[in-house]
Amino acid sequence: MGAVRREDFVPQNWRDYAYRDEPLPIGKEQTISAPHMVAIMCDLLCVEPRSHVLEIGTGSGYHAAVLAELAGKGTVYTIERFEALAEHASKLLPANVVIITGDGSLGLSEKAPFDRILVTCSAPEIPPPLLAQLKAGGRMVIPLGKEFQELYLVRKNRQIAKEAHGAVAFVLLVGKYGFPEAPHDEAANRLRF
Ligand code: SAH
Repeated sequence: MGAVRREDFVPQNWRDYAYRDEPLPIGKEQTISAPHMVAIMCDLLCVEPRSHVLEIGTGSGYHAAVLAELAGKGTVYTIERFEALAEHASKLLPANVVIITGDGSLGLSEKAPFDRILVTCSAPEIPPPLLAQLKAGGRMVIPLGKEFQELYLVRKNRQIAKEAHGAVAFVLLVGKYGFPEAPHDEAANRLRF
């Protein structure tokens, strides 16, 4: 994390707050996670130098940049549902990160299976396509719930092991295997970069 400049990933008017341990708004009613949450999630995920990684929820791109550092020669695929956020992140991310616009709850079957899957928005349940696209021996980190959310580490071996790691607060996964879209709020949806 020391190698990634968080200030580059936050909107200009929030730059002074870039190194506070807090989530910050990035437009489209979305947020860049607090640094401690990025660290906790990376720690649970155990990304290795050649890991083939999938992230759902590119947002600012900050977490993808940290994953790219950890994956080294591996590739990080990251899916964002808002084109404007994906486009902005694409200007900041290194060559081993591939950004895709679409519904990440469907995963990315053409690049599966993945060693590691990170979901940075909260889902009602583990999206079945993501579980199917996780390698045997692989790890997934995903927040689950709506008003009350918990962070889970999911390990796929012969059986699926699901371990809770405390209460969290994420924006919701919106998509086929996520929550339905909330009513449109024009002002909140304006991009703030
Ligand atoms: N990892 C991000 C955190 C972004 S917040 C960062 O470091 O900044 C979560 C993101 O998930 C939001 O940008 C939101 O638009 C996105 N999202 C929600 N549902 C999604 C879906 N079905 N597919 C892809 N992205 C989704």
